[in-house]
Amino acid sequence: MPETAGPGRPAVLGPTVDDETRCIHYRTPLDVVAIEFACCREFYPCHLCHAEAAGHPAQQWPVSERGERAILCGVCGHLLTIAEYLDADGCPACAVPFNPGCALHAHLYFEV
Ligand SMILES: [Zn+2]
Ligand SMILES: [Zn+2]
Ligand SMILES: [Zn+2]
Repeated sequence: MPETAGPGRPAVLGPTVDDETRCIHYRTPLDVVAIEFACCREFYPCHLCHAEAAGHPAQQWPVSERGERAILCGVCGHLLTIAEYLDADGCPACAVPFNPGCALHAHLYFEV
């Protein structure tokens, strides 16, 4: 049974532009993940959203916490662990492709 938006789904903060976690910075069809930040344990669509809205510097997830379910698929609400996300081309639950360009920014979210 696919998960859908509902009470179990974490809130995504920042300047989002739709219900699939796109934001004013990243809003292509492939931009459908939100990331929980290690510093505040809140989900934001991107590092720029966090920088503008959180009011504190971002911390990166240490390598030792790659088992944290810190990545939200904006399409189906599935939560991926950091390790799963870094290995995935798309959502393992709904198969929506993820933006391959995000890999260029992985160091902003995770210690590498
Ligand atoms: Zn934070
Ligand atoms: Zn953003
Ligand atoms: Zn999904």
